[in-house]
Amino acid sequence: MSAWKRRDTYTVDIGGVKVGGGHPVVVQSMTNTDTADIAGTVTQVAELAAAGSEIVRVTVNNDAAAAAVPEIVTRLRDQGVTTPIVGDFHYNGHLLLHRHPECARALAKYRINPGNVGTKRRDENFQKIVAMAVDNGKPVRIGVNWGSLDQDLLTELMDRNAALPEPRGAKAVMRDAMVESAMRSAELAEATGLPSDAILLSAKVSEVPELIHVYRQLAPLSRYPLHLGLTEAGMGTKGVVSTAAALSVLLIEGIGDTIRVSLTPRPGGDRAEEVRVAQQILQSLQIRNFEPQVISCPGCGRTTSTFFQEMAEDIQGFIRDQMPIWRETHPGVEELQVAVMGCVVNGPGESKHAHLGISLPGTFEEPKAPVYVDGEHYTTLKGEGLVGEFKEILLNYIERRYGEAKAEAPASTPASI
Ligand code: SF4
Repeated sequence: MSAWKRRDTYTVDIGGVKVGGGHPVVVQSMTNTDTADIAGTVTQVAELAAAGSEIVRVTVNNDAAAAAVPEIVTRLRDQGVTTPIVGDFHYNGHLLLHRHPECARALAKYRINPGNVGTKRRDENFQKIVAMAVDNGKPVRIGVNWGSLDQDLLTELMDRNAALPEPRGAKAVMRDAMVESAMRSAELAEATGLPSDAILLSAKVSEVPELIHVYRQLAPLSRYPLHLGLTEAGMGTKGVVSTAAALSVLLIEGIGDTIRVSLTPRPGGDRAEEVRVAQQILQSLQIRNFEPQVISCPGCGRTTSTFFQEMAEDIQGFIRDQMPIWRETHPGVEELQVAVMGCVVNGPGESKHAHLGISLPGTFEEPKAPVYVDGEHYTTLKGEGLVGEFKEILLNYIERRYGEAKAEAPASTPASI
């Protein structure tokens, strides 16, 4: 499902995952392990895949990394992890792919940064990588980044701009150079024999308005699917909010066929956070569903105890814990919306909008909590067992609506659930 009209693009097959052509927007991520550390990389790819990453990229920066790739892919497949593995190449990709043909075969896609394939022999090196992709039947992402933009091209466009009667600003020329670099490289890739439907483009910057501008400029120029991401988004709240702000504008405009959230994790932090953020962006925009959503109010002076917050957290955690099972046994459950509200001001109204909702008593309100199911008042809970009873109602609802044994809900299930 998608709430927004998508751009018309080719479909690119990345190791069995379809990107573009109206297929669901794909979530991808990248490891931060040393790829030569086979065990560490396999573990992290498996964690990213378990979190929902549908494509995982690994850096291939030297011979040891290139030599490790086939074994990494083999071990993952042995564990049942089918996620396509993409190789990220800079500077020496043309050499590594030639020296390690098994690596070239094992990867599902090659990422080339046209600003980082050499200077004197830039086109030649670029074409060598593309030729390997053609020979191995692999797609390529031409990933331009403003931190490593082709300096010759930038200088050319800057000089041309300076000669204009009214020169444009430096950022506008930078954007032109990024778009030009992506499009010229795609043209060269096609001239080298790569099919149109084996090319994806990206043009990443780290400033939100610039990212929106550059993708708006790039999108109408081609039918190649676009890989979208705010590069170097940063840590914590800054990284999450900046990425969501940038990607949301573009996704709403139908721009973006696969997304990556480039968060800087805390030392020892969870790399899979970037996957969850990417999923939440898509789900918040009603582009794709990944897990049931708990709608809860922020609380205010009417919720003087922490009970309401604890219950919202409890329900959220309960759902997250169950999702690996429900995903298999209860398809469609990811669309579920559960409201946990702090008082009667917005509680019943919000509960009625959700599939299932509970409105807890605020301060000085009667100690009872009305529960709504599919917009109708279903029951009213009170007392210490309230959270457990609500979870049971939730489980029964999920069983009835999404379970295989839809008509065989537990005996305690009320008839209307
Ligand atoms: S629903 Fe009630 S408790 Fe929650 S923020 Fe609104 S007024 Fe406050």
